Amino acid sequence: MKFIDLRSDTVTTPTPKMREAMFSAEVGDDVYGDDPTVRELEELAAQRIGKEAALFVPSGTMGNQLALMTHTQRGDEVILGEDCHIFKYEVGAPAVLSGVQLRGLKTNGGMMDLEEVKAAIRPNDIHMPRTSLICLENAYSSGEVVPLHYLEKIREIAESHGLKIHLDGARIFNAAIYLGVDAREIARYADSVMFCLSKGLSAPVGSILAGSREFVEKARKYRKLLGGGMRQAGILAAAGMVALKEMVDRLCEDHENALYLAQKLINLGFEVDLKKVQINMVWARAKSHLNIEDLPEKLLAEGIKINPPINGLFRFVTHKDVTKGDIDKFVEILAKTMQVGEQV
Ligand SMILES: *Cc1c(COP(=O)(O)O)cnc(C)c1O
Repeated sequence: MKFIDLRSDTVTTPTPKMREAMFSAEVGDDVYGDDPTVRELEELAAQRIGKEAALFVPSGTMGNQLALMTHTQRGDEVILGEDCHIFKYEVGAPAVLSGVQLRGLKTNGGMMDLEEVKAAIRPNDIHMPRTSLICLENAYSSGEVVPLHYLEKIREIAESHGLKIHLDGARIFNAAIYLGVDAREIARYADSVMFCLSKGLSAPVGSILAGSREFVEKARKYRKLLGGGMRQAGILAAAGMVALKEMVDRLCEDHENALYLAQKLINLGFEVDLKKVQINMVWARAKSHLNIEDLPEKLLAEGIKINPPINGLFRFVTHKDVTKGDIDKFVEILAKTMQVGEQV
């Protein structure tokens, strides 16, 4: 059965081109530095994101955690948004792996207040942790995109206090499309950047961590420490190459489909803040007259996968395996399931 899966863009399956590239990939032992396809991907990725070097990693989480391990020392403090992925969804890894303390600040539109960031930087005091890193996220987990002028301000603050910046750019290409700039224009404000090949770009596995040559070589050693040294990984890197070369420009279709879905949900009686539909994510709250009891289970029986709502808020994610026709079908079944007519 083919499902319409709106849970996340991580569910995207590799394209036929990716499978062909994987089939015929030239490989070697990448721990020896012998895999030509991994090397090619790392070079292409570095160039595509405007950094000296890049490292192919099994997951975005590992990429982020390697950045923390590489930029910080035990006992340091890291400033970041309290609802960002590193803070909320990486299993407390910063404490376990890097031995750092996180200082989570409130965010608005994916942005921490600049004055609060400045105030959070620790003075040089024998009692206090050393602040060494600021983590940003763009696009933010909320689906909102952080503007370049904000990144510039954070960069100024970081530089004037000798701090590094790591950017969690899991969806940096979505952010770049929304801003109408090249992804390098976002990445340039950060010392290191992670982005995912396995989300909207549809590769089966893998993320990239990029930065200076020195940074990447240190991170490579930590990747081995974590057990992330992969052998004939060119099989996976081959799909990553296709992702970078062919799947970036089409992300705008996912953004258009998200807006299309958002409008249909509004017609159905959901509350959606259209200003916040900036990439491929729609957050929707059902008005009280809608019957959303057991909605994920009911839709599953109709071949549709959605996540349960969090505090009454549903998140729907569009991606290359969801067509406009799928959205029409989803909305039709949704209306039937909730027993409402679509008001046009
Ligand atoms: C998905 C995601 C990650 C982590 O990626 P995994 O490959 O799932 O570990 C990190 N940051 C953000 C913002 C993400 O959306």
